[in-house]
Amino acid sequence: MSAKIIDGKAFASGLRARVQAQGERLRREHGIVPGLATVLVGADPASEVYVRNKNKTAETIGFHSVSHHLPASASEAEVLSLVRALNADKSVHGILVQMPLPAQVREAAVLDTLDPAKDVDALTPTNAGLLLSGRAHLVSCTPAGVMMLLKEYVGDIAGMDALVIGRSLLFGKPAAQLLLAANATVTMAHSRTRDLPDVARRADILVAAIGKPGFVKGDWVKPGAAVIDVGINRVTAADGKTAIVGDVDYDAAAKLAGAITPVPGGVGAMTIVCLMRNTLLAAAAQAGLPPPNI
Ligand code: NAP
Repeated sequence: MSAKIIDGKAFASGLRARVQAQGERLRREHGIVPGLATVLVGADPASEVYVRNKNKTAETIGFHSVSHHLPASASEAEVLSLVRALNADKSVHGILVQMPLPAQVREAAVLDTLDPAKDVDALTPTNAGLLLSGRAHLVSCTPAGVMMLLKEYVGDIAGMDALVIGRSLLFGKPAAQLLLAANATVTMAHSRTRDLPDVARRADILVAAIGKPGFVKGDWVKPGAAVIDVGINRVTAADGKTAIVGDVDYDAAAKLAGAITPVPGGVGAMTIVCLMRNTLLAAAAQAGLPPPNI
């Protein structure tokens, strides 16, 4: 069997065009330009790249985009004061505070200050709770992207066994809730799970978000399963070249899977576009308008 490749890059490109078109419509019909503000504290090179790409994508699709860069020595009070100013700024509909934060700035304090209506990463307790209640408005970007890819490439997942490996607030927990809402039978695994390969072999949908290159082996995959690789790991080969690889041993898993996401070009391609979609949804909601149809 040879797996169908889940082409996140192609899907993301279509979604991006739809988000851009709806953004233009919002501007044309209501005079609203969706606005995204990013906040980066410190100089982590990977975070700098992520934030730059988010602002660049926002600008490219005609959104208002602002970036705030505070030094690694910034105090919690300074970060909170910036978040409060952005909460009050009418031209900003979405605020993204790039994690991780320096040790002196508590993530919880930032999330408790962030206006849930502008929380486009859906990390605040309010948005996490709304998701649990089945009333989510803004959903964490990477899990939202995964669900769109499953809908497109797998179709109806009701009754399927889904396994999510990893239980982060950013991905694993919201992904499990979304799979449950789509009527899958969901198992969550983590570092204390026993007999993980056996648990994995029962999954019709195997989602890996661990942060360890090639952790999920080919013989963990149930024949015909959909394998969703969320991992983004930078590895250096013997020849000194660096490459981005996922959490799944792709070549081995692709031999058994029915469908599989490549890394790069799979899930990762969806995340930024879903962030733009959330910014658009937030802008419409803050103007009291119904959610744009995308
Ligand atoms: P994280 O906060 O780094 O947590 C990793 C999770 O993996 C934890 O729940 C941990 O379990 C679990 N884990 C670690 N070792 C394990 C093991 N031996 N067996 C089973 N589970 C194990 O996770 P994250 O932030 O969700 O990131 C995970 C990966 O996804 C990273 O590579 C990250 O770069 C990537 N990612 C990609 C995107 C994207 O845009 N595509 C977005 C988000 C994340 P415990 O809870 O027990 O410690």
